[in-house]
Amino acid sequence: MSIVDKALASRVALVTGGSRGIGRAIALALSRRGAKVIVNFTSRPDAAEAVVAEITAAGGQAASARFDVSDSAAVTESIKEIGKTHGSLDILVNNAGVAINGLLMRFSDDQWQKTMAINLGGAFHCTRAASSLLLRAKEHGRIINITSVVGEMGNRGQSAYAASKAGMIGFTKATALELSSRRVTVNAIAPGFIETEMTAEHLPEEQKQKLLESIPLGRIGGADEIADVAAFLAGPEAAYITGQVLRVNGGMLM
Ligand code: NAP
Repeated sequence: MSIVDKALASRVALVTGGSRGIGRAIALALSRRGAKVIVNFTSRPDAAEAVVAEITAAGGQAASARFDVSDSAAVTESIKEIGKTHGSLDILVNNAGVAINGLLMRFSDDQWQKTMAINLGGAFHCTRAASSLLLRAKEHGRIINITSVVGEMGNRGQSAYAASKAGMIGFTKATALELSSRRVTVNAIAPGFIETEMTAEHLPEEQKQKLLESIPLGRIGGADEIADVAAFLAGPEAAYITGQVLRVNGGMLM
């Protein structure tokens, strides 16, 4: 199903949290369209190197970059280095994220701050650091923010996560306006329930079944189904789409 033309040949893409789950699928999908992909990670170099190896084995170009998106100085330094090493940066996918779940009354300051620092702060740090490179890419410039259905509809036990993802939507629209003068587009994808380590780790089987009942299409989504939308938004066919939130959720929220 994925787009396999080479419309992104000569483009450089950075996918934060590109080592696992949705980010991994996006890295692979962008490389199938010809982009050189920088796979960011923070704790699992083995997973990042496996993605790089998979891309290069298929004839694509990739490299890994270790930095914590919540660390402003590290992000600035790393993105500067990417610009120097690869000559440009055309596509930024703000995908790195964590789901720290817990009821509001028992949620700690640390849990709140960590959620915000990674999910929302990460998108801010990376977008700010990459914006001059992206502006140079002009109409090829793309930012794709991975938000969540929860950012629009809320969820019990996810007040911080929902707030961070709702914040990303406002951030997407404001940056879309700021970068529009050079025809750089900024959009968000709001996935529903997608099978990754994040969902496997945090959702007990009983809760998963309940959630399935709330999905009209009656199934959990695959990371590839988010990646295909990202590959579309990154390409020339999406040049007139900006400031939008694309919902990919099996009908969970309409
Ligand atoms: P995942 O399987 O847990 O993968 C998370 C990725 O983010 C990993 O590559 C991880 O790298 C990276 N990461 C985490 N913290 C980081 C940090 N501080 N700096 C840099 N990288 C970091 O998660 P996923 O399910 O693929 O989710 C990806 C995105 O989609 C998240 O933003 C999530 O909120 C969003 N989303 C997911 C779902 C879903 O159902 N799965 C639904 C809606 C939205 P390391 O392994 O090196 O730590």
